Amino acid sequence: MAARGLLSGMGCLFEMPAALGLVSRPYSTSQTFAEVLRLPKTQLTKLVFPLQELQRHLLPESRPVLHLKTFDPSLEDIARAESFFTATTRNRIEYLSSAEHLDHAPDLLRPEVCFIGRSNVGKSSLIKALFSLAPEVEVRISKKPGHTKKMNFFKVGKHFTLVDMPGYGYRAPEDFVNMVETYLKERKNLMRTFLLVDSVVGIQKADNIAIEMCEEFALPYVMVLTKIDKSSKGHLLKQVLQIQKFVATKTQGCFPQLFPVSAVTYSGIHLLRCFIANITGNLKTNG
Ligand code: GDP
Repeated sequence: MAARGLLSGMGCLFEMPAALGLVSRPYSTSQTFAEVLRLPKTQLTKLVFPLQELQRHLLPESRPVLHLKTFDPSLEDIARAESFFTATTRNRIEYLSSAEHLDHAPDLLRPEVCFIGRSNVGKSSLIKALFSLAPEVEVRISKKPGHTKKMNFFKVGKHFTLVDMPGYGYRAPEDFVNMVETYLKERKNLMRTFLLVDSVVGIQKADNIAIEMCEEFALPYVMVLTKIDKSSKGHLLKQVLQIQKFVATKTQGCFPQLFPVSAVTYSGIHLLRCFIANITGNLKTNG
């Protein structure tokens, strides 16, 4: 029943075997890419290229919608990107500082990427997953009501800085909007903004605050779909297609390809690391 409803809702874009209605189990929590490369091919694809895995269930003529070839690195590229995220004595990955205002942000020449999203979207979990090869890094969380929300800066070797922006809610306080807005508008070394959207519920009203900011300031940004382990493939595919349509028709600055991830199964994490290494100019990929 669910499959039929979905098919009519999405204009017959995909084939829906009955099994797709089931919530898929986490298949692996492998962290290092060397371990991932030892997985059977189907498992490897699910873990490393979650969009490719979803694409198999689309009718061939609808597949280009997913823009899979826009960023399509080789396994070698992904393996190379991992070294940037692996803490060693020569590649120190560490929390640098926090700031409430851009004036207090570290003045850095390194390229920077920032992560923004609604409270509870899974931002801390995603950053922890990206830094899983640097277990000493403490991803700070200040969720208690009344606590001042800050931007947290993390140094990733000599390569780039990753900024964890405070989560926004439906009624984002004005000073918070000002903080994020000033940062997005004025941070000179900001290479890319990663805007997190919960794949279970899709784009919410509060997400539009961030989308509108990125569009208004003509920033290049990327949509990352979190918690993909929580939904059935059918539900996830429906959300992906809806968000993809939104990106294609309503945005200018958003990267056409979506990045679905799970901080639980690590699905999509290796590809996202590779993308970050690529856009910060540290890794030239074929993708
Ligand atoms: P933040 O407020 O955006 O930093 O969100 P958190 O990272 O604290 O996550 C909010 C809730 O979602 C927590 O209960 C997490 O355990 C859960 N969560 C985050 N990422 C995932 C994910 O990929 N899969 C699942 N199943 N749960 C997640």
